[in-house]
Amino acid sequence: IAAEEGFDLEDVDGLGDGGHAPLPVLAVVGRPNVGKSTLVNRIIGRREAVVEDKPGVTRDRVSYEAAWNGRRFKVVDTGGWEIDVLGIDAMVAAQAELGIETADAVLFVVDATVGATDTDEALIKIIRRAGKPTVLCANKVDGPSTEAEAAYLWSLGLGEPYPVSALHGRGSGDLLDAVMAALPEAPPQTFGDAAPGGPRRVALIGRPNVGKSSLLNKVAGEERVVVNELAGTTRDPVDEMIELGGKTWKFVDTAGIRRRVHLTAGADFYASLRTSSALEKAEVAVVLIDASETLAEQDTRIISMAVEAGRAVVIAYNKWDQLDEERRYYLEREIERDLVQVQWAPRVNVSAKTGRHMEKLVPAIETALDGWETRIPTARLNAFLGELVAAHPHPIRGGKQPRILFGTQAGTRPPRFVLFASGFLEAGYRRFIERRLREEFGFVGTPISISVRVRE
Ligand code: GDP
Ligand code: GDP
Repeated sequence: IAAEEGFDLEDVDGLGDGGHAPLPVLAVVGRPNVGKSTLVNRIIGRREAVVEDKPGVTRDRVSYEAAWNGRRFKVVDTGGWEIDVLGIDAMVAAQAELGIETADAVLFVVDATVGATDTDEALIKIIRRAGKPTVLCANKVDGPSTEAEAAYLWSLGLGEPYPVSALHGRGSGDLLDAVMAALPEAPPQTFGDAAPGGPRRVALIGRPNVGKSSLLNKVAGEERVVVNELAGTTRDPVDEMIELGGKTWKFVDTAGIRRRVHLTAGADFYASLRTSSALEKAEVAVVLIDASETLAEQDTRIISMAVEAGRAVVIAYNKWDQLDEERRYYLEREIERDLVQVQWAPRVNVSAKTGRHMEKLVPAIETALDGWETRIPTARLNAFLGELVAAHPHPIRGGKQPRILFGTQAGTRPPRFVLFASGFLEAGYRRFIERRLREEFGFVGTPISISVRVRE
């Protein structure tokens, strides 16, 4: 397989678009000039320089496919942002941290001819905190005379230093064996049996009696239930393929809806188990709520489960045929008061009984999935953050003013952001940023997460 250039962090997640089988990811970490690029070239089996041009913020990250002894994996060269935003040490640390976070194992490279520097020590702290399997590479051991220096690196406490000459290839076989032992066979699969281009997976959830089975019957009955297997998709007997709005959708775990289990004891527990197992398999959750009844705590709990599972969310108010003016008034109040946490979710008001607004379900699901998969290029994000911070700086606390230095989107499905800041950002300010991000970029129907890394 040819090495690929220009992968971004999404692929680094191992959860690329279309749900291709994810490969385990190795982050190559080390301070500048220890030979990371040379080593990456060695691993992917090329001799030319990996990155010729001066990398800038627009070039998110470079990752390559590699294989050793028949096992494929991804190599991420951590490095490649502009140095002038922060001091060099902070910059190296920030890159390493991000690289490590999205990796399954770490290859830490030290220049054996120089020994461990303060920057190396700082990187080791970050690696320890991350707790990922780590292999220590003592690079630039071009001949036996430098091997003693490599042995000194035992003192770093990262286990056996593998003496290597990235330049000449010496020792790289042993190093790769150690790397393969550190990498998991396949990284944990968050999204089940994803097949590229296969049907999107929908979980229909909600507390008992909101109308899940009625809705399922409505969509499956009036539209055509797809009997034929689609090429390349596996079909779970508890899932149903349903054609809606010209597309095939996989409604996961429908057996739990159809099999009307009425347990007296433990019914809630059972329902909540079903909900989490459906969420586990789905990309988008349609949360059904009985609009004719007062919103129950169980409704908001189910919504929280979908949000916490990181799924795209659509809220469907069912039994709309039963609403009178009074109930409608109170419903609006309930939504404002109790559903603020999912203000961003598209809402559809339907009736499984009359078929009202069924046609609005698919566009809502598609909107939510779009938001869920949105990626903001780093350069655009930083232009936005720069303006935001200039116009609305963080309040001064204890004589200091924390500043956002830069940010990057570390992943999608759902969107995840990492902000690097010069100090602790208050919760209120973080919420403000989330709100502004949503105003600027949409993210309709998806939770987003923002984590902040503080650099002193
Ligand atoms: P990076 O900044 O960590 O990616 O480091 P590079 O891969 O760009 O290497 C920095 C310098 O060290 C280059 O001049 C390389 O040729 C040199 N270098 C890398 N690996 C070795 C090695 O194993 N032995 C020797 N002697 N030089 C090396
Ligand atoms: P589930 O437990 O969530 O699967 O809910 P069911 O689909 O079994 O529905 C519970 C009850 O609500 C049944 O008596 C349905 O006939 C009724 N129901 C479901 N949807 C609607 C609707 O849109 N309007 C009205 N009026 N009743 C509905």
